[in-house]
Amino acid sequence: MKAMVLNRLTSLEENQAPLELAELPDPLPGEREILIKVSACGVCHTELDEIEGRTPPPRLPVVLGHQVVGRVVSSGPSSPPPPPSPPRSGGSGDGQPRRFKTGDRVGVAWIYSACGHCKFCLAGNENLCPDFQATGRDANGGYAQTMTVREGFAYPIPDVFSDVEAAPLLCAGAIGYRSLMLAHLQDGQRLGLTGFGASAHLVLKMVRHRYPSVQVFVFARSTQERAFARELGAVWAGDTLEESPEKLDSIIDTTPVWTPVVEALKNLEPGGRLVINAIRKENVDREYLLRLDYPAHLWLEKEIKSVANVARSDVSGFLALAAEIPIKPEVQEFALEEANTALVELKMRKIRGAKVLRVD
Ligand SMILES: [Zn+2]
Ligand SMILES: [Zn+2]
Repeated sequence: MKAMVLNRLTSLEENQAPLELAELPDPLPGEREILIKVSACGVCHTELDEIEGRTPPPRLPVVLGHQVVGRVVSSGPSSPPPPPSPPRSGGSGDGQPRRFKTGDRVGVAWIYSACGHCKFCLAGNENLCPDFQATGRDANGGYAQTMTVREGFAYPIPDVFSDVEAAPLLCAGAIGYRSLMLAHLQDGQRLGLTGFGASAHLVLKMVRHRYPSVQVFVFARSTQERAFARELGAVWAGDTLEESPEKLDSIIDTTPVWTPVVEALKNLEPGGRLVINAIRKENVDREYLLRLDYPAHLWLEKEIKSVANVARSDVSGFLALAAEIPIKPEVQEFALEEANTALVELKMRKIRGAKVLRVD
């Protein structure tokens, strides 16, 4: 199979072609795994974090990509009957009927696997599992013609979406959904979004559907992003450094840097919550944190909460909501071989909607 492979960590400023096209053997599906012929794979900011070493893959070379849509080609062997105890939670349930058959359309998200028996997994927070494995970082992902995954970690894709439309929903959408749940928003409140890329524009669409009386305020550096936010129904859109016309009950930060975090806190209501949706922050503006002013930014019980990974319930919950609305993401397509171009554009913040690799 063809794949775009990361062979060594590098900086995109110095190296505009971090991935190399390679011919690899097709992977073989192991026990309870499926082999997927990939048709589309979303390009995510997390791939920049992997390439540049902020969340480095444990082994190289690796195939990146964790917003994968494709069709089941074959299944690995069923596993032997489970031991009598303790019962396993999560997963596809060993010894159960197979979840997918050949030809089924499936998606794979950032969560590649979790242990299924630690306290986090048992409480439904498998995203916090110490054995959490990420697709396209800890295991080969979807910047390739095929990949394998345990069938319990793949999802049926609702018919309403094309392959290319579904891909960005699997990360940006699922993590946006988790962020929104962690924002503890109630209808009638005011929500801020700082940063307006793939995830934030999906959050705005979800909010408009689920909480029709919530007013959304968007902070973004570029005028195009601000115009896009107003088009999608934001009541106000301003620069990252601006003060919002009204205080906000919660704010979701989807930027890769620190300035928006400090600036967002001043716009929160007392008791308000800032949810940071970023796997890592770049340290280019780290000194901005020294501007943190306790009375202006944190006093009166303001909270900061990070979002870590996604659980399978976020992916399936979001896919169902997205199909109901329906959410059709704005998509910009690239060929698999153009993955480097897509990554460089993402790095340069040339963003309007989501970038997706179309795989033949
Ligand atoms: Zn992602
Ligand atoms: Zn676990």
